[in-house]
Amino acid sequence: MNDPLQSLRQLSCADDYDPNSMAVDKARDLISRFLAPVTTTERLHVRAALGRVLAEDVISPLDVPAHDNSAMDGYAVRFSDLKADAATTLPIAGTAYAGAPFNGIVKPGECVRIMTGGVVPPGADTIVMQEHAQAKDGQVTIGTGHRKGQNLRRAGEDLAVGQVALKRGMALRPAEIGLIASLGIAELSVYRRLRVAFFSTGDELVSIGTTPKAGQIYDSNRYTLYGMLQRLGCEVIDMGVVRDDPKLLEAAFSEAAGIADVVITSGGVSVGEADFVKDLLNQLGEVVFWKIAMKPGRPLAYGKIGNAHFFGLPGNPVSVMVTFYQFVRDALLKLSGRDPVPPLPTFKVPCTSNLKKAPGRTEFQRGILTQDGAGNWSVRVTGEQGSGILRSMAEANCFIILPSEQGSVAAGALVEVQVMEGAV
Ligand code: AMP
Ligand code: MG
Repeated sequence: MNDPLQSLRQLSCADDYDPNSMAVDKARDLISRFLAPVTTTERLHVRAALGRVLAEDVISPLDVPAHDNSAMDGYAVRFSDLKADAATTLPIAGTAYAGAPFNGIVKPGECVRIMTGGVVPPGADTIVMQEHAQAKDGQVTIGTGHRKGQNLRRAGEDLAVGQVALKRGMALRPAEIGLIASLGIAELSVYRRLRVAFFSTGDELVSIGTTPKAGQIYDSNRYTLYGMLQRLGCEVIDMGVVRDDPKLLEAAFSEAAGIADVVITSGGVSVGEADFVKDLLNQLGEVVFWKIAMKPGRPLAYGKIGNAHFFGLPGNPVSVMVTFYQFVRDALLKLSGRDPVPPLPTFKVPCTSNLKKAPGRTEFQRGILTQDGAGNWSVRVTGEQGSGILRSMAEANCFIILPSEQGSVAAGALVEVQVMEGAV
């Protein structure tokens, strides 16, 4: 594989490479070139594997269903016994229950009562549902209009022995856990969790439990980050608040890069604070880009410190979340072994608010997507869009994505929305 830092150096000679104002798509593409997923695996019991990423294909050890069986409560018959133009009466030779097959064959001119899931006895090739039959005195009368093979689930119809049931790189949701159990598989191989260390930077920050003095604020970024990382299934290493002191920051970066696959910081990348962090990072590792042409989240650094990936998120609480959803989420999923990384769904709906925007940067406004009584969806903005207003994230259920070249939007226009639910 090409050395990404080498290709970065080549790229940095290109005309449109600007680490101080990287377009959103370009930044995503650049980050993706550096991401080498974890390879270490562990074996887990199926229940413990919920939320983890499959490290191997799951091959079906059996046919599913294992036998031809009935999809309905009814009667197992030989289709050739049914008259095409008149009712047919057949004696009932016995019953096939789910889990208790009929021991025998369905002889010509006979039928067997069969329950949903019951094994279709040899001889029978068709199931007549009980609503289409009248049983009386050990016999059943069946009308016309049946089709050979109806209401019958074939062995191996869902999955045949040896078929790939689940692919490597999938995250295991309840459906996958159930499917694995249905195959009788108790243990499986998953990738180890990604280790992510994070800290907040800022002299003004206090943690909850401490009363802020004048000018101090509570650190909220470590809480949103903790939540988002937990939801993504990462092993989380919370390193607390680090003061704006080059010595302390250097020690924190070095320690974090030594113990984690990914280091995430918030704050300290905006103008005024940026310079010593930037110098520090260039000294400890390599910064790929520094600023993105987006709002909120303009100062966003990405680079490497040794083998660890580094994301320097802005300090503003909304910017932290927006940049996490837009860049860090995908990167962490890819590093965790997800293949493919599922994109967040986006679609277009009418916007009922006027949106203020200047061309030149991609904007991620916070929106509330709702459905009216007639079933039509529309979106409105959460109100003030300041990047310090965390309430706007708490109220939102989607981002309204306004492309770079877009100007202000008048109410009624179609806008692109990206659903946040399930994103992390
Ligand atoms: P900075 O990028 O460090 O200049 O921070 C930008 C703004 O975000 C400032 O108003 C900071 O006080 C605020 N901020 C930075 N870190 C945090 C944090 N961990 N929790 C809440 N607000 C923060
Ligand atoms: Mg700061």
